[in-house]
Amino acid sequence: MARHDGKRVCVIGAGIAGLVTAKVLHDDGFDVAVFEKAPAIGGVWASSRTYPGLRANNSRDSYAFSDYPYPATADDFPTAEQIRAYLESYANHFGIWPRIRTSIEVVTVARAAVNAAPQSLDVRLAQGGDGARFHVTIRPAAAGAGTPTTLPFDFAVVCNGVFSEPLLPQIEAGSDLLARCCTRARPSTLPTSRRRT
Ligand SMILES: Cc1cc2nc3c(=O)[nH]c(=O)nc-3n(C[C@H](O)[C@H](O)[C@H](O)COP(=O)(O)OP(=O)(O)OC[C@H]3O[C@@H](n4cnc5c(N)ncnc54)[C@H](O)[C@@H]3O)c2cc1C
Repeated sequence: MARHDGKRVCVIGAGIAGLVTAKVLHDDGFDVAVFEKAPAIGGVWASSRTYPGLRANNSRDSYAFSDYPYPATADDFPTAEQIRAYLESYANHFGIWPRIRTSIEVVTVARAAVNAAPQSLDVRLAQGGDGARFHVTIRPAAAGAGTPTTLPFDFAVVCNGVFSEPLLPQIEAGSDLLARCCTRARPSTLPTSRRRT
């Protein structure tokens, strides 16, 4: 398997998708940082987002990561508390936990030097650039809690779930492309003719 030592990846969101993305990329040698705007990991399963009595519709065998089964003590249809504990255990077990920053919201992801002529990484580094492909701007999630900071990354993976409002780029004459890119993320907002789920 190819190694990617030192390449920096920003993962946005620490729900199930963000956690498994971080784990796989970390295993492959990427330098991973996960930003989660909520105070805890787990996404929809975080304690602030669940209600008493909530359980998974799926069995614990089908709602598990393939390389990390639920403990034998979990119910066949795990409770929200058991899912939370499972996700926290997963993050700990695979060394992801130290890479997660909670209560940090990603506000923009921008291509680095988007208006500049294409240059090799060596040229940009020689000129004092950070060599990044993407500039990711973060800020404390609590309103008024701090100023935004922009960080350089080689890659960014959006794992923000289906319950976030997408900020879609304006692409003239590219609406079909945009539909193809975004349908998986939020199909219900697109006209039926443009859905490809
Ligand atoms: C009540 C309920 C019960 C469910 N039960 C089941 C079930 O039994 N079986 C099943 O298969 N599925 C179930 N689901 C579906 C569930 O959504 C998925 O299974 C899965 O948990 C989604 O994970 P995710 O990581 O894609 O998204 P999410 O869990 O939504 O995580 C996305 C994370 O991204 C963070 N985020 C968003 N924007 C930003 C930003 N700009 N900066 C930083 N962080 C950001 C959010 O705070 C969130 O924590 C259920 C959903 C709900 C709401």
